[in-house]
Amino acid sequence: MKIRSLILTFLLLSQFADSQLRKQREFSPAEQVLMRQMAQIQKAALESDAAYRWLAHFCNNIGPRLTGSPQADFAVLYGQAELRKLGLKIVTHKMLVPHWVRGAETARLVEWPGMTPGTSQKLLVTALGGSVATPQEGITADVVVVDSIADMKALGAEKVRGKIVIFNNFFDKAMARSGHAFEAYGKAVQVRGRGASEAARLGAVATLIRSVGSAEFRVPHTGGLIYAKDVPQIPAGALTHEDVSTIVDLAQQGRVRLHLTLTPQTLPDVESSNLIADIPGTEHPEEIVIISGHIDSWDLGTGALDDGAGVVAAMQIAETLKWLGLKPKRTIRIVGWMNEENGGRGAKAYATDFASLMGDHIAAIEMDSGAGHALGFQLRVAEKSMDLFAPVTTVLDAQGAGLLQRTDGSPGADIGDLDELGVPTIGMWNDGRDYFHYHHTPADTFDKVDKRNLQENAAAMAALAWYLANMEGRPQQK
Ligand SMILES: [Zn+2]
Repeated sequence: MKIRSLILTFLLLSQFADSQLRKQREFSPAEQVLMRQMAQIQKAALESDAAYRWLAHFCNNIGPRLTGSPQADFAVLYGQAELRKLGLKIVTHKMLVPHWVRGAETARLVEWPGMTPGTSQKLLVTALGGSVATPQEGITADVVVVDSIADMKALGAEKVRGKIVIFNNFFDKAMARSGHAFEAYGKAVQVRGRGASEAARLGAVATLIRSVGSAEFRVPHTGGLIYAKDVPQIPAGALTHEDVSTIVDLAQQGRVRLHLTLTPQTLPDVESSNLIADIPGTEHPEEIVIISGHIDSWDLGTGALDDGAGVVAAMQIAETLKWLGLKPKRTIRIVGWMNEENGGRGAKAYATDFASLMGDHIAAIEMDSGAGHALGFQLRVAEKSMDLFAPVTTVLDAQGAGLLQRTDGSPGADIGDLDELGVPTIGMWNDGRDYFHYHHTPADTFDKVDKRNLQENAAAMAALAWYLANMEGRPQQK
């Protein structure tokens, strides 16, 4: 009986496999050549430790790479030097970038129900990127706790005026655990972006959000905010999950007052640059395939997951092609975008300065979703172009990275500017279940990157870029 059912299962499975294979189209001789080369590239990248070594240098030797800092510019120089050693042609591309610097950041409870007389309670806080400062000596004010922007608006100006608004916003951890971490982030991050200006509209003096992240290690998460133009700018920070929970509990019991000091500064814009290096095409050097990550990072950690990993995974193709002695037909352009985190100026300058060449940009790939296991790619290409990628799926399936998902919007922040100009854009699709534990925190450091996962990301990016740089025809965006 047992054997009979095993045989039956086997027959069913092999029929299933047959029908799957029949659905797969035939590959042309040219595609078969490319598939063999992609497999070679994949194998070499999976065995290389170049990306991992570069990442260690970016994170440990150079450190945090906040836009406008000397470290951010030094990282560009380091990337250029490493790629020049591999024979790449450096393209100099400068632009003005914002220069925001973090100052002191402290918060403490100074009054609450049941407090021990004469004491205060320290809170762990970080300024949101772009925040204005409190006075040097800080501010003291009553807090008002709200669950959302809508909740705050319902309270009205009378209950918000003169207060520090505490946003008890929620990151859907269950959603993140079920494989939708980026959707969970997208929902939770709204209050970080708009909360301060919405509170200022009602007369608040400062805002503090619950950190947008998926773990409770009493670590605050920073991230950019956007001030509306028509209201005064007020200081904005993020508290840890634990501290917001404490305040929520105390505020239900009675009056809570908090002292907050944030002294960041926005200095005049400074000149900076993108990291750009080309592997020139042998047949169509004017046609370009971009493979990229962003070279700037927040200043709290050392930008390993966000997004040193993306930059080094993009750089890997330079070492791999040199090792194998392969030269692409079209130009493969490695880019480390400057200023993704607080302005996107590097990408915007590229889209502006190279606008006349967009017709020759075959596609732009970016990895900026952590360094978890490579699942595949998200593609902003026309439905009719998806079939062109069947050879890529077949090769990447061997490492578990064969998922290709079509999207209707750009799958990466920096390549979004190219998407608007009609360039097909492709984002690395990573397992993001743990990403938001560390994202934008002091804990985004080199040790969080798993070497094997990084190699898999680098291999998948390199194989895809090789295919795009050598395929017959090209994908369409619409
Ligand atoms: Zn990023």
